[in-house]
Amino acid sequence: MKLFEHLHVQYSGDADNIKTECIWCGSDSLSADVEPPHQFQCWKCKQTGNAISYLRKWYENLPALTVQQAKLLCTLKKGIKPLTVRDVGIRFFDDHYWFPVYNQKNHLMAVHRYATDNNIWYSSPKPVSLTVLGLQNLSKSDTVWVCEGHPTTFVSYLRWPKQVLIF
Ligand SMILES: [Zn+2]
Repeated sequence: MKLFEHLHVQYSGDADNIKTECIWCGSDSLSADVEPPHQFQCWKCKQTGNAISYLRKWYENLPALTVQQAKLLCTLKKGIKPLTVRDVGIRFFDDHYWFPVYNQKNHLMAVHRYATDNNIWYSSPKPVSLTVLGLQNLSKSDTVWVCEGHPTTFVSYLRWPKQVLIF
């Protein structure tokens, strides 16, 4: 399943269902649909949800960046300060940096992954990677800054957090 592969989550299963560790209770009893929106349930703690709720819990479980991790990212991505990458909520796990993407209601909608070894950003797979985030919440008077690519998104988000659309 693309989402779990993107998140580096180990799983087993067949064409319809997969099994993996439950990130709520720690048992190995979480079963999820292979097809989007990846409805899941844990047979032990009874947690249910879909790709988005799984993604949010997965991200929430990651610790904040250490100073060293933030500094390392800033040596790889020039022009960004360590405090900035922490403020934006970037996390580090399994040798990758994880970049959260929020909608206008401040709900996590996607997590992009930056691989330090090949300098590539990987977008969350569908259905968690939306083409336009928050568009429905804009009023006629809003200024819209369209950002394409992660470096521009960084800068724009910090200057105009409520007016940035991420493609
Ligand atoms: Zn559970």
